[in-house]
Amino acid sequence: MKGIKNLNQILTLEGVAKKNGRHPKREDLSIIEDGAIVFNKDEILWIGKTDSIPLEYQDVSFLDGSNRILTPEIVDSHTHLVFGGDRSWEYGMRLDGADYQDIAKAGGGILSTMRMTNELSEDELYELAIERVQKIHSYGVGTIEVKTGYGLTIESELRCARVIKRLKEKFNPKIKIFSTFMPAHAVPKQYKSVKEYMDQVVYPATEKALAEGLLDAVDIFHEVGYFDNAITEEFLNWATEKGLPIKMHVDEFNDNGGASLAAKFKALSCDHLLCVGDKGLEDLKESETVATILPGTGFFLGKPQAPARKLIDSGARLAIASDYNPGSCHCDNLVLISSLAAPHMNLSLAELWSGITYNAAGALGLDNQGSLLIGQSPRFSVFQAKILDEITYNWGVNKADPDFITQVYS
Ligand SMILES: [Zn+2]
Repeated sequence: MKGIKNLNQILTLEGVAKKNGRHPKREDLSIIEDGAIVFNKDEILWIGKTDSIPLEYQDVSFLDGSNRILTPEIVDSHTHLVFGGDRSWEYGMRLDGADYQDIAKAGGGILSTMRMTNELSEDELYELAIERVQKIHSYGVGTIEVKTGYGLTIESELRCARVIKRLKEKFNPKIKIFSTFMPAHAVPKQYKSVKEYMDQVVYPATEKALAEGLLDAVDIFHEVGYFDNAITEEFLNWATEKGLPIKMHVDEFNDNGGASLAAKFKALSCDHLLCVGDKGLEDLKESETVATILPGTGFFLGKPQAPARKLIDSGARLAIASDYNPGSCHCDNLVLISSLAAPHMNLSLAELWSGITYNAAGALGLDNQGSLLIGQSPRFSVFQAKILDEITYNWGVNKADPDFITQVYS
């Protein structure tokens, strides 16, 4: 049993949890001033004000949380952090006026990351990924979803999934890693059709990953010209029969009805949503599927953003994630991305924090975290600040205190 006391504020999100993350308001942050918390390794046992710690917990060893704020753990529910190589030259080309086709012609794009990923050994990929996870944790992010999707052969996708499994074991319990299997990310050039790639790689690779215990969910890039409606629906039916949790990339370049498909198949989340239409909005508001926006991608590419305001106002559960990847968003700092997104997308502080904690945990199906309530998993983030507003007000300044989290788990 352990405790933390003298915290300036504890953000419990009790009100947000009661509303299941929909329409979060300032009062739903349910902040405790001068707070304390008692927990064991599995659950939160007590939470309240420092001066009202019950007698039965007075002898617990308490860490001193002075000058700090405790929040539900920040969750980055969408990253592609297992990759080889570097695509900084594409960024330069883009700033100089090149478009997607020019970059592809010059040998760039996702298939170039595939090539550079496949040139590295499993150990080399693992070492790179360790550094990336540690960096993400330094911003106060404690649960990180990691996708495969740059291997694009059976063996290489499994290799990337094994890297993710090793990360999971290495960082447990301090950092929780969630493994999403995504060979349906792009189609390498040697396949005559998407169907051929599905049959020869996606299905057999997923079967093997499942048998090896390598995946927590599957994901697919649903888009015209990539994995279209028929291919996607067939895959989602198959995944549902296998009992696999589903995540999806949807409605990024066109309104493809991806959000509706995600809701229909009870996906954990559908991500991107730049072009989501009225039908998608309608279906999401009725569903548990979390609408995940990835504003870093729009900032990085200079492209428009998802209609976050509309999604929240219609009643969807909205999460914000980084989309950290080598091509379209080379930024791993979800707190910074949210700081920028809130004023640009007209999000309130309550919507921002629900989006990176409670709803982000929901986007991974982690129902026992995301709020700090008795019985919930003791997963939290710690920041050096007097009030919550300070954390994202100081945009680009890291207020997180990962060393404090290390003490919690020591
Ligand atoms: Zn993605």
